[in-house]
Amino acid sequence: QRKDIATPIRTKEILEKHGFSLKKSLGQNFIIDPNILVNIVAAAGLTKEVNVVEVGPGIGALTEHLARASKEVVAFEIDDRLLPVLADTLSPYHNISIIHSDVLKANLKEVLATKIDLEEPLMVVANLPYYITTPIIMYFLESEVRIDALVIMMQKEVAERITARPGTKAYGSLSIAIQYYMEAEIAFIVPKTVFVPQPNVDSAIIKLTRRATPSVKVKDETIFFQVIKAAFVQRRKTLWNNLLTRYGKTDEIKEKLIKALEVAEIDPKRRGETLDLAEFGRLSDAIGEYVW
Ligand code: SAM
Repeated sequence: QRKDIATPIRTKEILEKHGFSLKKSLGQNFIIDPNILVNIVAAAGLTKEVNVVEVGPGIGALTEHLARASKEVVAFEIDDRLLPVLADTLSPYHNISIIHSDVLKANLKEVLATKIDLEEPLMVVANLPYYITTPIIMYFLESEVRIDALVIMMQKEVAERITARPGTKAYGSLSIAIQYYMEAEIAFIVPKTVFVPQPNVDSAIIKLTRRATPSVKVKDETIFFQVIKAAFVQRRKTLWNNLLTRYGKTDEIKEKLIKALEVAEIDPKRRGETLDLAEFGRLSDAIGEYVW
């Protein structure tokens, strides 16, 4: 058995052998600590029955750990300079497919269907490029492909926003958008020192597990997400002021909004950040009925 790709020495050898220079604009911060990778695989609870999608394999550090622990790995890499590197470093493994593509531009269902059985358990496990963390998460959550869980590394600050509870500073539309579909928890914090080059911020691994049904039942998801967006447009303002900004300030609208808030049993003087998902559900159903 060869040394892990993620050891500092082997990573340096690989980069030198292929004359590879890291590109900041693609979020290329590679992990150089195998322990972190072991912990990521453990947090995911991978088994040989689970297929895995990875975003951004880099030189294959995490990819080889995923290949050892799971059934099939499909990894999307945007940087064509990494293709010969990956062909070299991952040659001992036979359950890895590298897809050369911007993951956000790929038709996920079509690509995956050629590689794995979509009826089987499926997870996303990745050390994400930080410049597109949120778009990538939403791309997977909104995809037709049923993904059971995502275990992903991101900036600690974003991880805190995603997992935030009502009434906290970090709580906002991102927390709600994700917690609507998934149960969200921070698995562990990762210091900057395990990357090359070191990023300016600490990172965190979060685990998102799909709920059997969305955490609140709403009549119309479009209105639900619209109300949430409106409620956080100006965090310091009351719900009432933010709703007026969104729906209009005429006496007629005001009357309808008062009715909707009354029916939903929400005090208009509250701020959006104090409402939990159930309350946003009630409010958006009432707005759908009386205002929309
Ligand atoms: N998995 C490796 C590791 O943990 O050491 C590398 C992770 S690095 C933070 C992010 C990787 O994502 C880079 O390899 C980068 O080239 C790739 N990447 C950036 N944007 C991408 C995109 N839109 N689609 C697919 N891969 C992307």
